[in-house]
Amino acid sequence: MTEFSATIIGAGIVGMSTAAFLQREGCKVTVIDRLPPGEGCSFGNAGGIAFAEIVPTVHSRMLLKIPRWLMDPLGPLTLRWSYLPKAMPWLMALGRNAMPDRVKAITEARAALALRVVSDFETLLKAAGAADLINYQDTLRLYDNEAQYLAEAPEREAKRAHGYVTKRLSGGEARELEPAIGPSVHCGVFHGGWYFVSNPERVVKSIAADVVKNGGTIIADDVVSLTRLGNRVSEIVLKEKGPRKVDKLVICAGAYSHLLARQLDENILLEAERGYHMVLPNPGVSLSRSLTHARTPGAATPMEMGLRLAGSDEFAGLEAAPNYKRADALWRNFKAVLPGLREPDSKTTRWMGRRPGTPDSLPVIGPSKTTANVWYGFGHGHMGLTWGPTTGRLISEIMTGRKSNIDLSPFRADRF
Ligand SMILES: Cc1cc2nc3c(=O)[nH]c(=O)nc-3n(C[C@H](O)[C@H](O)[C@H](O)COP(=O)(O)OP(=O)(O)OC[C@H]3O[C@@H](n4cnc5c(N)ncnc54)[C@H](O)[C@@H]3O)c2cc1C
Repeated sequence: MTEFSATIIGAGIVGMSTAAFLQREGCKVTVIDRLPPGEGCSFGNAGGIAFAEIVPTVHSRMLLKIPRWLMDPLGPLTLRWSYLPKAMPWLMALGRNAMPDRVKAITEARAALALRVVSDFETLLKAAGAADLINYQDTLRLYDNEAQYLAEAPEREAKRAHGYVTKRLSGGEARELEPAIGPSVHCGVFHGGWYFVSNPERVVKSIAADVVKNGGTIIADDVVSLTRLGNRVSEIVLKEKGPRKVDKLVICAGAYSHLLARQLDENILLEAERGYHMVLPNPGVSLSRSLTHARTPGAATPMEMGLRLAGSDEFAGLEAAPNYKRADALWRNFKAVLPGLREPDSKTTRWMGRRPGTPDSLPVIGPSKTTANVWYGFGHGHMGLTWGPTTGRLISEIMTGRKSNIDLSPFRADRF
């Protein structure tokens, strides 16, 4: 076993999974985050272990819908217009990546990344004594009409081609499975391969507790700068605790990662794709699985703290104040398919999180191209819970010189 030490910036699902897998390789790990583990974007996601989602978030047919979405300030996608100039390079790259040849290549890379998602999740959660957080129930996708169902045929075909079996249910069959589903639902589909966790925050906190139990350290502080000596980072500077020497450094800082990479002269296109959730502890309906709705990018997931409605995509940068009307819009959309859904009450909570989004719907996993002792694990966008544990395993393999099960070139840092 290799003896070395690594400092990991970021205690989200990606950083904590990286720490846990590195520890298994005999590495002494220190994780630094200004927030407690699992309280960044990993806190509030929809809980989907969505390994069948191999088609990129944006493809050419979706590009056509975007102008209509942008006209609706509470629609599934919004851009604060004052932010447009800053987002422009990212948006232009997004357009290039929506072309059919790129969509095909990206789909292949996402499918490869998905191969060991479930076993990597199980490895970490079993070790942490928290395997019961995984629910092996496939997500059910709902459609209002036949046209909506037919429009997604290419995605289903891509999934089938990669071995994910999709199964159509009539509206009645969907209601038999989930009686809360209302009469407006025309049909449903199991998109074979989308489990869910009952508390994403507890997933990360459980892994973090296991890392600490096995000798790892978690430091609460803000990393303000990286000090380079030659082609290495020699130390990092913490806001409260000052400079700290590093041996190997892994940047898993979610939507803030590009700011650190920039200090290493690496230009990585990363945008905060801001998503929202609403949790209803008394939802008035009961679900046994997570639901998605073709008209409403997002999911309704039964979690231990209540029913979580999560989704939406807002481009407004890292610092703009949240617009919780977007969480309320999620409620209105799901009310259309779950008529028994109760009104939000005083126990209802709302949240906004910053998805670390790249314009090609692929994360950055691998070594820095400018700095010898730095590795990256970020940019997981809509799929960070799903790909987090696998990313941790891959980074530990790369750092210890082991061969990985997949081609890692689509995830390299210098592709932007
Ligand atoms: C509404 C919504 C629904 C979602 N649903 C799903 C889903 O169903 N399935 C799925 O797979 N994914 C989903 N996602 C995406 C997923 O949540 C993210 O991709 C994932 O949480 C990113 O994890 P991370 O570890 O990269 O980032 P984070 O969890 O944000 O962790 C990064 C950490 O780095 C810290 N940090 C950053 N910079 C510094 C610094 N300079 N110093 C110290 N600390 C620093 C931050 O404080 C943060 O805690 C969803 C996201 C949203 C918003």
